[in-house]
Amino acid sequence: MKFVDEYREASLCKGYAEEIRRTATRPWTIMEVCGGQTHTILRYGLPGMLNGAVELIHGPGCPVCVTPPSFIDAALHVASLPGVILCSFGDMLRVPGSGGDLNSARARGGNVRMVYSPFDAVELARNNPESQVVMFAVGFETTAPATAAALLSARELDNFSVICCHVLVLPAMEAVMSMKGCRVKGFLAAGHVCTVMGWNQYSALARDYRVPVIVAGFEPADILQAIHMCVSQLESGSHRVENQYTRSVSPDGNPAARELMDRVFSVTDREWRGLGMIPRSGLRLSDDWREYDAMRRFGVTLGEPAAATECMAGRVLIGEIPPTGCPHFGRGCTPESPMGAPMVSSEGACAAHYRYGRRT
Ligand code: SF4
Repeated sequence: MKFVDEYREASLCKGYAEEIRRTATRPWTIMEVCGGQTHTILRYGLPGMLNGAVELIHGPGCPVCVTPPSFIDAALHVASLPGVILCSFGDMLRVPGSGGDLNSARARGGNVRMVYSPFDAVELARNNPESQVVMFAVGFETTAPATAAALLSARELDNFSVICCHVLVLPAMEAVMSMKGCRVKGFLAAGHVCTVMGWNQYSALARDYRVPVIVAGFEPADILQAIHMCVSQLESGSHRVENQYTRSVSPDGNPAARELMDRVFSVTDREWRGLGMIPRSGLRLSDDWREYDAMRRFGVTLGEPAAATECMAGRVLIGEIPPTGCPHFGRGCTPESPMGAPMVSSEGACAAHYRYGRRT
């Protein structure tokens, strides 16, 4: 197949769905760990096509959703400082910390800008030498190489720095599997993360937790084919890594992108919204780059992990409850008036259910 439409072809999708229904002898629970896949699943009504043959639950795969309030509070503080231009991606500006969101900081007079790439922030720094430009960098291994490349391009600037909140997917999947009462029997791994990191990285997870891991793409036929691969393994008692997304993912990923990350970042423990502190699950600027660390430059320390709120994002992000299991879903909490990150982000599970949940 060559064109994206071919991966949305109805007869192909129906064929995979039929195969899954025929193969599954029980409703296996499979978790996708990618907000893009969550949206495809809901948008194309895949649960309806599978008619209960498998249970699809959504994992911590939305980068905006897993960013903890303590980092948003730090960004809010930096945005309130005179002479600072705080930059981040669009969705990130609407996610609440404990003191509001970055859009509200803008309303209070903070100079907060939406950017599409960390390079936009570097450009702002070049064009505004009298200001300090700070990139609030979030996301998985997919976006981390761009932050690293932007920093490398900004070496001559003394008015550019980064609040680094990048996270790594694999430690979060291990954390999910280690949770008491975990129901996950198989994973769909995020194709774009594996484009950078490769699929070899999941071998130990599959072996140690005896769980099939299928690297999957983002179109409905990709996801249905990956579910079929996962169900086939579960039915035969296998637990290994398989790659459905062969058109983009190789065993070792993209060595050039990983080298960029290695040059700029070090692995660190990181708090995740909903999952708490996960060892070695985040990226910080390495010691060679500490002068570009905005937290250090502006003397900001992270606050305590957030206290519980009415938002049930934590339980949604580990698949403990579906978004519709939250009492605020569609009542007090909607995309126009979100109470939590999964309803804000275009990749969030609550927003996906709100938008597409009634499709079959
Ligand atoms: S529906 Fe709203 S309040 Fe409930 S978990 Fe989702 S984002 Fe939080």
